[in-house]
Amino acid sequence: MIEANELSKRYGNTRAVSKLTFSIGHGEVVGFLGPNGAGKTTTMRMLTTFLPPTQGSAIVAGFDIRTHPEDVRRSIGYLPETPPLYPEMRVRDYILFVAKIKGLAKVQAKNATEEMIEQCGLSDVARKLCSELSKGYRQRVGIAQAIVHKPPVIILDEPTSGLDPKQIIEIRRLIRGLREKHTVILSTHTLPEVSEVCSKVIIIAHGRLVVSGSLTELTKEKSLEDRFLEAVASDSAFGLRE
Ligand code: ADP
Repeated sequence: MIEANELSKRYGNTRAVSKLTFSIGHGEVVGFLGPNGAGKTTTMRMLTTFLPPTQGSAIVAGFDIRTHPEDVRRSIGYLPETPPLYPEMRVRDYILFVAKIKGLAKVQAKNATEEMIEQCGLSDVARKLCSELSKGYRQRVGIAQAIVHKPPVIILDEPTSGLDPKQIIEIRRLIRGLREKHTVILSTHTLPEVSEVCSKVIIIAHGRLVVSGSLTELTKEKSLEDRFLEAVASDSAFGLRE
């Protein structure tokens, strides 16, 4: 469903992402890990076509990000770190608005909106203004806007960051419910979250791929925490930055 091939991005002299090659199958939920500055956001921005790669490419849901960016965007639901809500809109109206922007016809958009309100647990706040929502509900609305058009690929950038434990449990449950029907990339700093919801793990450091494999395989002999620390340490030891 996603094939990245030597995907690279430079900002001036900074190699933010360097020759990233990986493959993600249909229905997988992938934990995308790496220390701050590793290149996760840059990679997600390239996959969602918001940023062009300097070199390399990626195929998302059968479309090349360089030659078919619009098809790629239609195939992806993206929740950036800060959900793109309109404060002055009511939750139901906002989701409906996004559904229409994403190309759903009127009746389809209405049905999809109601489905999202149900699936994302938004019934109690559907009439509230987006500006009145707690952080947990803002994240849920963020997920609803990302998946309302039922894209095959969903990319979530730290969806549980800053939430309280109850909200975290609920969002993780929601993400678990997406697997099999969707391919999900989940960027997170929380390793237990990966153990709980992901089937595959990709770790990058200094813009390079350091680990990629199934969660079961990677945690056969060592904990994910040890794997992560090892991966990040060995990368810096080789001085791969430049
Ligand atoms: P992560 O999401 O893993 O924290 P980023 O993709 O945000 O990492 O950043 C990767 C590297 O690229 C960092 O060294 C960061 O400082 C640099 N970087 C990110 N965005 C820009 C930009 N717009 N201009 C210059 N450098 C950038």
